Amino acid sequence: MVHFVGAGPGAVDLITIRGKQLIEEADVIIYAGSLVNKELLGYAKEGCEIYDSAKLSLPEVIDIISAAEVSGKTTVRLHTGDPSIYGAIREQMDELDKSDIGYDVTPGVSSFCGAAAALDLEYTLPGISQSLIITRMEGRTPVPEKESVRELSKHGSTMVFFLSAGDIPGLVDELLASGRDKDTPCAIVYKATWPEEEKYVCSLGSLAQTAGDAGITKTALIIVGEVVSPKGYEKSKLYDPSFTTGYRKGVRTDG
Ligand code: SAH
Repeated sequence: MVHFVGAGPGAVDLITIRGKQLIEEADVIIYAGSLVNKELLGYAKEGCEIYDSAKLSLPEVIDIISAAEVSGKTTVRLHTGDPSIYGAIREQMDELDKSDIGYDVTPGVSSFCGAAAALDLEYTLPGISQSLIITRMEGRTPVPEKESVRELSKHGSTMVFFLSAGDIPGLVDELLASGRDKDTPCAIVYKATWPEEEKYVCSLGSLAQTAGDAGITKTALIIVGEVVSPKGYEKSKLYDPSFTTGYRKGVRTDG
């Protein structure tokens, strides 16, 4: 049995209780060494075999899991944040299906949630944006043309960019070319929730300079949209005193 487990964004106590238990019980752990907090491996039992997937190819990962299965061992595949976001889990699952190896998934706190927490930010403010676009700049992994930054940005929604800190000037060019104003509020969060977390709030026009001055080129998220420094927004209907919901009867507030 293989458990895909979300390790959370960095802080060791942001893994789920279930995820921690699975680590404690695992015979084999394959963790994404580039981003998973190694302190989590301290929960592993004695004798647990531990592998860093940063040094492994997909066939090598599958070989380790298959060997563990043959000896009736349980494997935890520990991914950073939540496994469903840029986690490359589908390709592993497809290989496991071929060998009839069972698996399940334990979600984790994604780094985009960690970044919002660092900034005291709400991505979906009524009257400003009710949508969050999670995307990335094209790198060695291509992005479909209809999902280019230029296209997606036209919606004016809040955007979070993963895997894009290596080319922030290019990102800024694309956002400006799509019509976003250079005063659009932006934030960069480096290593959200880790002890060495850094966060910067700036504007689209000063984003590249801010990242350059801070020397940030990786392990960061870039957040773009008015919600970063909201000037005016509407309060929620849910907590509006005059609004009736399935749980609460509204009261008149107009005198
Ligand atoms: N599954 C992960 C994302 C993996 S892709 C998740 O849900 O968070 C790796 C990218 O995620 C990095 O390049 C960076 O953009 C982002 N990232 C991961 N952890 C981060 C953190 N603690 N702070 C800021 N960005 C992070």
